[in-house]
Amino acid sequence: MASLHFVSSLIAALRREERLDRLGVERLQQRRLAQLLRSAMSSPFQAERLRQLDWSAPSLERVPSVATWEMMRSFPDTLCGERIELSEVQQVAAQKTGGMLVRGRYLVSQTSGTTGEPAFFLNDARSWDVQRAVVFARTFRDRLAWRHVRRFLRRRYRMAFVVSGLQSCISTQTCLDGSRQARLFSDIRLFAAEQSVSDIVRQLNDFQPDYVHGYANLLELLAYRAEDGELRIHPEFMSSGSEAFSQTGRAAVLRAFPGTVLTSQYGATECTVLGNECRAGNMHVNSDYVVLEAVDESGCPVPAGVRSHHTLLTSLINRFQPMIRFRLTDSITYWPEACSCGSPLPVITLEGRSDNIIWLERGPGDFVVYHPLAFQCQMYQVSGIRQWQVDQQERNRLLIRYVPAPGADAVQVGQQIQRQWSGYLSEERLQDIVQIVTQAVSEIPRSSTSQKARQILTAVGPPAGRGGRPGGGVR
Ligand SMILES: [Zn+2]
Repeated sequence: MASLHFVSSLIAALRREERLDRLGVERLQQRRLAQLLRSAMSSPFQAERLRQLDWSAPSLERVPSVATWEMMRSFPDTLCGERIELSEVQQVAAQKTGGMLVRGRYLVSQTSGTTGEPAFFLNDARSWDVQRAVVFARTFRDRLAWRHVRRFLRRRYRMAFVVSGLQSCISTQTCLDGSRQARLFSDIRLFAAEQSVSDIVRQLNDFQPDYVHGYANLLELLAYRAEDGELRIHPEFMSSGSEAFSQTGRAAVLRAFPGTVLTSQYGATECTVLGNECRAGNMHVNSDYVVLEAVDESGCPVPAGVRSHHTLLTSLINRFQPMIRFRLTDSITYWPEACSCGSPLPVITLEGRSDNIIWLERGPGDFVVYHPLAFQCQMYQVSGIRQWQVDQQERNRLLIRYVPAPGADAVQVGQQIQRQWSGYLSEERLQDIVQIVTQAVSEIPRSSTSQKARQILTAVGPPAGRGGRPGGGVR
């Protein structure tokens, strides 16, 4: 059953939005920030970063920002109270089954990092419970009215999570934990996003979910399948995470699933509770649990109404591996106006957070479509790799660029990539059709318009007539 931390955080997250005004939330944020900074002093890495702090009035301005690679390089020192080497964490994350717990109590989550270099983060049980509770409360806040709860009680609410099948992914862990802890009221199932969209469509048709959660790009693909008459489900509620919807994508989902309520979550592996969309369609920062700073290229704050170059995250939840002014590549804009929904939490817009969808051709005119995650998961399973990029240069030709990790043999890493992909393509019945070319490089090229090196590129895009619906199509 759900833990005490989960239940109390769930209730607090729901009630706080009703009871506090903006000033009240800011005061709570400051109080929690001061507590976080004090407790972070037991991490040698953070103690060094916090040494300029004025403890009579601690504020983040004097703390330098930090990148993923800096935390990974000093991994054991970033932890409070226990020393754990990165290699021990990597071993747990590499397991394909079983819980993702280091030493039986610290949950591992893995991200590809902003440049493809794998990064690992740890949460203790309390931190993980709070994050899950806040995500649940703020996503379902308008679904927890009595008329909805009655439905939960009448029969088990069927919830479909179309997320990575890889257990070290944070949304997968959310799904698996939810399915264990809420089985009396709900039937929560995981539909691995690595599968082809056709397989997911078939499984969803069998399951007939009341609720579907998935990546925005993937929900958009499912919407096209529904419009084509292949996907026949009628969810009353849908949510997207990880990526921002394009206007086209949102419109496609609402058109294909009339009557559904669609909401977005803004989360990251480093902290899952950054923001949630309200019923008025605005994204609110969960500023009672995080500090999100919108900054320019040199790290200086930008005023409301101005789009940031990147964002600095401070999580007020994770006390075991503190995240303080952690650099996220997301570009956000704060808006000063209060939202019509009445929430005291600040409103932002979130820009571009998306990789490309890849369409492969199984036979003449027979296209299969893949979410970027399917490819990311193949790369997660290759060791000795620092950065990577999949580049679809022709319809059925993928160039995989990779930067070997220090000490790794570039040729062996290349062979490992070939083996991994060959197995995957066989499962997908594409083994003799799709060509994989590997190339060891010293650096992954970045796009001219963004500081971010995109992991999945396509020079060919969707086939004619697919994804080319009015308004722009698949990004
Ligand atoms: Zn609102």
